[in-house]
Amino acid sequence: MRCKRCSRRAVINLRSYRLPLCEEHFLERFVATVRRAIKEYRLLSREDRILVAVSGGKDSLALWDVLLRLGYRADGVYIDLGIRRENYSEISKRKSLAFAEQRGAELTVVDLREEYGRSVPGLARRSTRSTCGVCGIVKRHIMDSVALRGNYTVLATGHNLDDEASVLLANLLRWQTELLARQAPRLEAWHPKLRPKVKPLCLLTERETAAYAVLRGIDYVHELECPYSERATTITMKEALNRIEERSPGTKLYFYREFLKRRELFRPPQRAEEAGECEVCGFPTTSRRCAFCRLVEGQPSRQGGNQNNKKEGE
Ligand code: SF4
Ligand SMILES: [Zn+2]
Ligand SMILES: [Zn+2]
Repeated sequence: MRCKRCSRRAVINLRSYRLPLCEEHFLERFVATVRRAIKEYRLLSREDRILVAVSGGKDSLALWDVLLRLGYRADGVYIDLGIRRENYSEISKRKSLAFAEQRGAELTVVDLREEYGRSVPGLARRSTRSTCGVCGIVKRHIMDSVALRGNYTVLATGHNLDDEASVLLANLLRWQTELLARQAPRLEAWHPKLRPKVKPLCLLTERETAAYAVLRGIDYVHELECPYSERATTITMKEALNRIEERSPGTKLYFYREFLKRRELFRPPQRAEEAGECEVCGFPTTSRRCAFCRLVEGQPSRQGGNQNNKKEGE
């Protein structure tokens, strides 16, 4: 197979576009797609100080790599969740640190056990929530805290097109209108202490991100998945979409992009007016204490937090 742009040997065939590409043209196209997403959805500006949520996986490291190549001011934050099974947290941390060192980039490491006395599995044992539910609260809180303390202006995560399209499908099948309203490549902050959240890889598939990471020589965590991963729904949705994509190439991207054009059909919940500040950490909450502080103190948690778009394996 030959590259459609230059006739050199192709390293990947992007079936959705009937586009075989050589290494150079694939990498070029990948970066151009990120640039297009940033421009089209107004994700970032040159003045932004970006904090990238790094997990040691292909998506977050590929994202950090591209942002640095595009000349953005992007630092990383790695949260050591204290997941000891299969040495998961240790290996992910090592890969994230090595990446940062190779590129001379700044990585803030937050060790949950050191700072709050318990790991995610430890917190989950005392909670009625699932491990992933607890993990989501912990990650959101710590990312928001590091962003606020470090004067970052925006938080970036490595969600790719497969993540976004599968969550969209799951939310549509259940008509989760509040979650649909909150699914966007850029989610504005609803409180001065929070930062906007952006997903610059949202137009690129998992396969493209993995190929980019391999071709760029990024040493990421693969063949190792978080042992607590609750992936049943996500996998079902991804499989369904992949089957449709095989029959009708390009559907996944069309599905997601067309949704974004119609997103205003779903009204976001009005939260800012009713939110106060947590009496322990000062972050916005509708209770006396926020979900994170209640978790750390071992108080019973209120169910029903936003589990929208959890990125598996992070
Ligand atoms: S699968 Fe992801 S969200 Fe769940 S516990 Fe592991 S790292 Fe956390
Ligand atoms: Zn080429
Ligand atoms: Zn709090």
